[in-house]
Amino acid sequence: MKKILCIALCVVMLVGGLTFAGCAPDASLSKYTIAAEYDPEAETLTAQMQFDYYNATDNEISVLPFNLFPNAFREGAAYEPVSSVYHSVAYYDGESYGSITVNSVSGCERWEIGGEDENVLFVYLAESVFPEERASVVIDFSVSFAHVRHRTGVTEHVVNMGNFYPVLCAYDEATGFYECVYYSDGDPFYSECADYDVSLTVPAGYIAAASAEGKTAQKDGKVTYRYALSSARDFAIAVSDGFEVVSRQVNGVTVSYYYYDDGEAQNTLETACEAMAYFAETFGDYAYASYALVQTGFCYGGMEYPGMVLLSDGLERENYLYTVVHETAHQWWYAMVGNNQQEYAWMDEGLAEYSTVLFYEAHPSYGKTREELVHAALTSYKAYYSIYSQIFGQSDTSMSRNLGTFISEYEYVNLTYNKGVLLFDTLREGIGENKFFSGLKNYFSSYRFAVAKPEDMVACFRKTGVDVDGLFDSFVLGSAVI
Ligand SMILES: [Zn+2]
Repeated sequence: MKKILCIALCVVMLVGGLTFAGCAPDASLSKYTIAAEYDPEAETLTAQMQFDYYNATDNEISVLPFNLFPNAFREGAAYEPVSSVYHSVAYYDGESYGSITVNSVSGCERWEIGGEDENVLFVYLAESVFPEERASVVIDFSVSFAHVRHRTGVTEHVVNMGNFYPVLCAYDEATGFYECVYYSDGDPFYSECADYDVSLTVPAGYIAAASAEGKTAQKDGKVTYRYALSSARDFAIAVSDGFEVVSRQVNGVTVSYYYYDDGEAQNTLETACEAMAYFAETFGDYAYASYALVQTGFCYGGMEYPGMVLLSDGLERENYLYTVVHETAHQWWYAMVGNNQQEYAWMDEGLAEYSTVLFYEAHPSYGKTREELVHAALTSYKAYYSIYSQIFGQSDTSMSRNLGTFISEYEYVNLTYNKGVLLFDTLREGIGENKFFSGLKNYFSSYRFAVAKPEDMVACFRKTGVDVDGLFDSFVLGSAVI
């Protein structure tokens, strides 16, 4: 019955024209309705965001905290948004700053900006919201973009609009709302699924790639994209007046590749499609109607968002395709199955990296074997361990650590990506193929659209009938000798 109702609603909305392409939003999720306009000359985005909060917690909520990620790029920020080794690659135009300005918040008693580094907007509600109740606030804000090859920045060809709006802090029943701090090592994000209705207006001639497929309307020399996305933990956009686009359908999903410098664009798209098909078959179905891959200026290899990923134009071919596969795996591990990326980065990064190993193992034509990739992770990890033990006398090899505790990008990469690969490969060796893949499928279906903690992941593998606690503990706590 629900399905029929949903189809009927979609037909009504389609008949209505541009208004909406999606089905009815989930009644038990919060919703972001964002109307934004980007001015390429001023390099600013002005926006109004209505946030309809649904209290899915067991507690009375009186203050809504929102992460203000673009403030990490402002002059005088307490934390550098870019690792020092990537600084010159990121700031291609010299020092540059950006920020988010909250102009007003209505529907509340008062609001203020605070947190550890002006990174949180606190909205004090006029009345508390009890479990399963709703409240709405409207936030007017503007974002100025730094010239930086990063998640939120103007690059030579593309404006990267990742993390551009106030994002409600994720809520843990035990500890309350979690305020993200923009550390340069890792992805300092943690958010819960919500529904989105986003519109973006840009000058005609600009093309926008986003977490969903947009419907467009032209008026007065401007084009407005309108997007609907249900049950997503973030929404990102990338805008350019130089994009070329190739697309293909995979299992009913529109996979599109936006690029400006790729002589083998069809090939890149082919790899993305192969990865989409393989991960859907191996872990479970992809949840969204579209998936966009965006070539852009980016100081690291790539960056994942629900339904969209950024790919650095600075990568050589082999690495570029590897990044396509890794970022696509994040659609399963991060986008659909969430985790606190600031505390347990190894959960999504380790699994995305090991999923990349699985992809290459299943696609021998790329010339990369499981043995070779696991060996490369082991060699890199051992080198890190040896160097850090010599320099610091000992090495903290625990994996569940706040991003702020990593001494360097080098340590972070080895403990989350490489040790993650070693953890999952050792697990697979230990419990066998069938139990390993059934544990992964179980983990995916149990935590799709939700947030998993390390013990939840362990429990999914334990359900296969094997005691895996000791193995996970030895890797994650750092007692395993590798
Ligand atoms: Zn990753």
